Amino acid sequence: MASTVRSHAGSSLREFELINTLRRRHGRASASTVRGIGDDAAVTAPRAGRHLALTTDLLAEGIHFDLATASIEDVGYKAAVANLSDVAAMGARPEHLLVALAIPASCTRSRILRLYKGLMAACRPYRVSLIGGDTSASASGLFVSLTVTGSVPAGRALLRSGARVGDLIYVTGTLGDSLGGLRLLSRRDRKPAPGLAPAARRYLIARHRRPAAHCRLGQLLSRHRLATAAIDLSDGLSGDLRHICEQSQVGAEINAGALPISSALRAYAAATRTDPSTLALQGGEDYELLFTVPPSQSRRLARVAARPGLRLTCIGVIRPKRKGIRLRDEAGALRRLPLTSYVHFHKVSD
Ligand code: ADP
Ligand code: MG
Repeated sequence: MASTVRSHAGSSLREFELINTLRRRHGRASASTVRGIGDDAAVTAPRAGRHLALTTDLLAEGIHFDLATASIEDVGYKAAVANLSDVAAMGARPEHLLVALAIPASCTRSRILRLYKGLMAACRPYRVSLIGGDTSASASGLFVSLTVTGSVPAGRALLRSGARVGDLIYVTGTLGDSLGGLRLLSRRDRKPAPGLAPAARRYLIARHRRPAAHCRLGQLLSRHRLATAAIDLSDGLSGDLRHICEQSQVGAEINAGALPISSALRAYAAATRTDPSTLALQGGEDYELLFTVPPSQSRRLARVAARPGLRLTCIGVIRPKRKGIRLRDEAGALRRLPLTSYVHFHKVSD
């Protein structure tokens, strides 16, 4: 749709030039790419015996990102991680990327090239190749939509619906760091957390700006038939665990004392007089994986997870549906886990 660009942000020639630059810089074909950028559609060659995982995300400026608190490279990086993490949570290997943009008149060519720099930096470790996209003008704000494809052995995708009563609930990494980083960055909170060490501040902000997707672990969980269900933590543990419970028709019990919390987040919580467990339960955009494993597999899990060197923590157990989703506090009392879903940047009205 070159015409909208022509009428708004300049000539279609400029769009052509931008796409050519993107193709030269980032359009290197992978083994499974038959035709990448430059034709009416990309063509890929799926391998026999594998299923295709597809995920797409739309990020709108002012809703999902704010260029006052994030660089355009970071926006690209995080957008890619959000999609790579979805593929990881399916146990699939990410392969291809398509990028659709709506660009406001105020946005420069160099800013778009920096967006791709961030995008491709997140994709490079997984050799995900850029195979296409679309470019349009926007009447207000930048819109970035990514589509990432992945490949998983047929029948082995990790679904949200496979958790069984008695399965152990694991998470990777530490929880709540991204929310801590966001709060440190937000304008409302410019001089927060007095006494928080600069290293802790930098750590939390880096976790917010450059989270990691755990694609290797996702594939190992699928290949070794370890996980019965999996999800990535984009909206926060309390909300995302609910998706597994609803789709698996089960309840869950989370042990507050077991939640993995970084020393930096503990320091932030102490400095701001917040409860670190609440940050860990509510914080979104950590992109850690949450998955369920039958207790009989927990030793194998420890061996397999040692390979990508990830920290894994058992935070609870799957219970019958009628028990609901509950939190055991540090004193041992059980209460209902409050539903708090992470709101990325703005509230969207009903
Ligand atoms: P069409 O008019 O058929 O949609 P386009 O001119 O939009 O064709 O796109 C030409 C080629 O450039 C296609 O291969 C398309 O996938 C690719 N492309 C367009 N925009 C982007 C983008 N923002 N990022 C990557 N590839 C793009
Ligand atoms: Mg197009």
